[in-house]
Order: sequence, then structure tokens, then C-alpha cells
Amino acid sequence: MADLRDLLKVDPGTLRLADIDPRATPGLPSKRTVGKDPKLWSAEAVADISTELGSYQEKLFASAKEGATNRRVVLLLQAMDCGGKDGTVRNVTAGMSPAGLKAVGFGPPTKEELSHNFLWRIRRALPPSGYVGIFNRSQYEDVLVVRVHNLVPDKVWSKRYDEINAFEAKESSDGLTIVKVMLHISHEEQKKRLLARLDDPTKTWKYNPGDLAERARWTDYQQAYEDALNKCSTEATPWYVVPADRKWYRKWYRKWYRNWAVANLLHQAFGDLNPQYPPPDFDVAAERAELSKAA
Ligand code: AMP
Ligand code: MG
Repeated sequence: MADLRDLLKVDPGTLRLADIDPRATPGLPSKRTVGKDPKLWSAEAVADISTELGSYQEKLFASAKEGATNRRVVLLLQAMDCGGKDGTVRNVTAGMSPAGLKAVGFGPPTKEELSHNFLWRIRRALPPSGYVGIFNRSQYEDVLVVRVHNLVPDKVWSKRYDEINAFEAKESSDGLTIVKVMLHISHEEQKKRLLARLDDPTKTWKYNPGDLAERARWTDYQQAYEDALNKCSTEATPWYVVPADRKWYRKWYRKWYRNWAVANLLHQAFGDLNPQYPPPDFDVAAERAELSKAA
């Protein structure tokens, strides 16, 4: 299979979000290749990939035991409201051990966070060696919502792209792999999903009356996303755009392309990292002999 990363990676300076169809399914194999409906196939593939991610995660954890390496992985998700970040996290991490995961969501900064540089809370949230971190929103909010709402002057936010690039470059040279994914939905799809939140009492809690004011600024947000992705997609830490509109027509097909693509991107990053179980730093035969003699 072609490397999905090549299909979804943002080529710095050239991304136009309007040119990416949120209903597209780049890289999804055809029915002929997989021998069944690709929707069903991808939903099953997510479960398999997630199990493999769990195995990679364990190796990463084991290999970092006693500070042997500083390797860490972060899956960073950004999206407009209703873009599907929570569902993606649930599906992609299903095969992983919660003990080795550090999942963090970033909301409006607290008073304390505001008294520091915007990257302060991000640094504190980075996973320790051997852990997998999930960022539900991130440092990018500081050039998205902050820019759209003029929460700081232009000259402050406009310098943040470089600050983010410097931060990510430093961390990635210090063992951090960051997989940055934007879940790309359409304006119409967001409306459907917001309505679904109002119609379903089990989803109403996710609705926030402020979401409508944000939706009204759709174009500004798309522009802010485009700039952030164009300026901060680098060799070491590229951005990926995953079309995320696809709906289901059977419950078990839910958001099949999105979950498959994100799981795949993370899997490929782990493949490059190729973590290995560490060799024992003690004499296994001697331990076995002693244990056999013991009561
Ligand atoms: P949710 O993900 O629905 O819980 O919403 C989190 C909210 O926090 C979103 O409206 C974000 O735009 C907002 N948020 C996250 N980071 C920042 C930030 N640095 N400054 C202002 N608002 C933020
Ligand atoms: Mg929300």
C-alpha cells in the first residue's frame, strides 16, 4: 500500500483547504484490492491497527525503562467544532494501555497559564519518555481561536508560528515524534453534527451556545488553519489533513475513513520509530536456575 503520509501531508506554503474535499478518502484501497466493501474493511482495519499500536506502545514503554531513551510520541488533533476529535481518540487508542497514555485537552487558558508564555502549558503536558500523548487541541489554538478573536495583538500571534516551529524542532531532536492531524470537515457537515447534538439528549452536553458564534466565523477559521498548516508543516513535524466528513449508513461504519487514516498515520510513525523490547540487563539463566531451586 502507498504511504498514506504522502497523500495527506501538507506541502508547506501550498495548502488550500478549499481544494481538499472533506468527503474524499485518499489512500483507501478499492473493493477489488480488499475483496469487500472498503467501508466495512476500513472499520475492521482500525481495530487491527489499534491492536498493533498497543504493541508498539508497549515496546516504546519498555525501551524507555530506566531512562534508556527519551523517545515519546504525541498524536496532536485539531479540528473545527464537531470535527470528530473525541471519537478519533476513542477509536485510535482502543488497543492501547491507558497506563502508558497521557491524554490532554486544551481549553481556554487559566489565569495561571495566561501569566506564562503560551507554550508553557504545552511543555508541561508533554508525555514522559516511553509514553504516548494525545493532544486534543494544542499550541495551535494560540494562532487559531486567539487570532480569529484578536485575543492578543497581531504582532504577538504572528510571531507564534516561528515559536511553534522552534519548539517542535527542539522537542523532535530530543526524542519526540509528533503526528499532527487536522480533521477537515465541511461547513454543511458541521451544521448537521451541531443539530445532532441538539436532537440527541446523550450529545447535548457537547453543545455550547458559543459554538454558533464560532461557526459564524468559519471563513476566518479556515484562513487561520490554512496559515498555521502552511507555516508549520516542516520536515521533522509535518501536518496532515484528514478529510473527515464521511458519514455512516450503518452504525458500524461510523466515521470509517477518518479513524482508519489517523490510526494509519500513527502506525506509520511508530513503524519509523521501530521501538524494540530492551535486552535484559541481568543473567536470565542464573535467575531461572535460582528461581527453580527456590520454594
Ligand atoms: P472543547 O474542545 O469543546 O472542550 O472546547 C475548548 C475550547 O477552548 C474551544 O472553544 C477552544 O477554542 C478554546 N481554547 C483552547 N485553547 C485556547 C486558547 N489558547 N485561547 C483561547 N481559547 C482556547
Ligand atoms: Mg466544543
